[in-house]
Amino acid sequence: MNIIDFDTHIGQQKPNSLLRGEACPFCDREHLTDIIAEEDGIILLKNKYNVMVGADQFVLIEGRECQTDMPDYPKEKMHRLIAFGLQHWQKLLHCGRYEEVIFFKNFGPLSGGTIRHPHMQLVGFPKLDTTSLWVPEFFTGPRIAEKNGVTMTVSQNPRVGFWEINLQADLPLRNEQTDTLADFIQISVDYFMHHFGRKCQSYNIFFYHEGDRRILVKTVPRYATSPLYIGYGIRFRPTNLFEAGEEIKRLSFKK
Ligand SMILES: [Zn+2]
Repeated sequence: MNIIDFDTHIGQQKPNSLLRGEACPFCDREHLTDIIAEEDGIILLKNKYNVMVGADQFVLIEGRECQTDMPDYPKEKMHRLIAFGLQHWQKLLHCGRYEEVIFFKNFGPLSGGTIRHPHMQLVGFPKLDTTSLWVPEFFTGPRIAEKNGVTMTVSQNPRVGFWEINLQADLPLRNEQTDTLADFIQISVDYFMHHFGRKCQSYNIFFYHEGDRRILVKTVPRYATSPLYIGYGIRFRPTNLFEAGEEIKRLSFKK
C-alpha cells in the first residue's frame, strides 16, 4: 500500500477556479513557466504546486479554451491530445527517474480537481508500491465494443463501485490504435456527461500499464462516494450493467 506525504503548506496556496471562482491560471498562457513541450496549443509543464512530497507533478493543459471539454473536441484534436499525453507518459516512465508515473484526469467539482480549464496530470514517483495500484479483475466485464485491437468493457468488478468504463490495448500502440483509444475515451466521457441516467458533472480518467505489454484506461463518473465504500470497502455493482452497455452501443456504435 502507498501513503504519500501531502505538503499542506503548498496545498493552501493552490488557486481554485472551480470552488472559489478565482482567475484561471491556464488561460494566462504568457505567464506559464517550466514548459516542457507544446504542440497545437497543448502544453505539458511542471506543476507549480508540487504538493506530493518526493514526487514530480506535471500538468497537461489540453488547449487554449477554458469552457470546453473532451465531448466537444473535434476528432483530430482528441487524437492529437491522447497521442501527446501517451507519448509524454511513456517518456517519463522510461526516463530512469521514476519507479512509476501515473497519468490521470480530474474534471468537475466532484472529481477532486480545482481548476475548470480542461487538463490532465502526470506524477512521477521515484518510489512506489506498484503492485497495489490495480488488479486485473477491476477491468473485467461485458464487452461494449472492439476496434483495431482496442476493447471497451463496463466493470463487473468496479474498483470503487458503480460505473466504470474500461479500455484496453496491447503495447506498443500503432497510430490507428491510439486514435481508436482516443475515440473510445471521448465516447465514454460523452456518455457519462450527456446520456447517463443520473445527472453527472464530474468524472475521472485513469491510465494504467502492465509493464510494456498493455495499456488500460478507466473512465469513472463521479458523485459523492458511497459511505459503505469509505467506511467498509464494500463495492456496489449496478444491476443494470448490461443495459448500460447496450445503451452505449446504441448511442455510439450505431453502424
Ligand atoms: Zn482557463
